Amino acid sequence: MVKQNKVLSLDIETSDMLVSVFRLGKQVVRSEQIVDDWRLLCYTAKWLGNKKIIYDEARTEKTEKFILKKLWKLLDEADIIITQNGTIFDAKRINARLIYYGFTPPSPYKHYDLLTLTRRVADFTSHSQAYLTHKLKVKHRKLLHEKFAGRRLWMEIRKGNKNAWREMKAYNIDDVLGMEELYYIFRSWAPNYFPKVYDMTDEEYECGTCGYEGKMREGEPRKAKKFKYRQHTCPACGSWQPGRKVK
Ligand SMILES: [Zn+2]
Repeated sequence: MVKQNKVLSLDIETSDMLVSVFRLGKQVVRSEQIVDDWRLLCYTAKWLGNKKIIYDEARTEKTEKFILKKLWKLLDEADIIITQNGTIFDAKRINARLIYYGFTPPSPYKHYDLLTLTRRVADFTSHSQAYLTHKLKVKHRKLLHEKFAGRRLWMEIRKGNKNAWREMKAYNIDDVLGMEELYYIFRSWAPNYFPKVYDMTDEEYECGTCGYEGKMREGEPRKAKKFKYRQHTCPACGSWQPGRKVK
């Protein structure tokens, strides 16, 4: 029997920083020029296979610790998290804020970073979520938060503009939904070192990528140094499962 791991799709938004400068244009901004550092603004999380969207926001810094506590619990529960560039950004930014507030680490989770995956397997013109969701014509194409174009959204958030917060929420939720659509497109392309969403007990009859239960299609035997092995492909999602020794 295959068992689905607890997989959390996750995306966070952080605030901008306020810095003190004497002029515009290219320059080095040092840490002593920070007037107001960044913080966690909001996050959207969704358990894979569950329709419920979990969204939380901290409109002021006072409530940031409170939403971090809820996020910590989700991370603690997760076996795997799916993100777009989260190994570099989301997970580390969350950790920075958790450490700042004195949290202990949530239980370890595996990371399924879609940016790493898409870059690993394909050469698209761009691997940004905005590009890929439009190019692959998924339902949730990255929003452009047109009411507050570009940086203005973050500047209005800083002022506490309610409409900007509404826009941020829509943007954050849509990011997770679009990311999940990309996950379903790319999952069968994931190399074997990517986390398996399903735990398998029988590689010949179970798919670790999509959870399909049934006979896998057998590939041709291949020679390794000391033995022959045979790989299997899933008839439902097309992913290749790890090779098995052929006697
Ligand atoms: Zn499959």
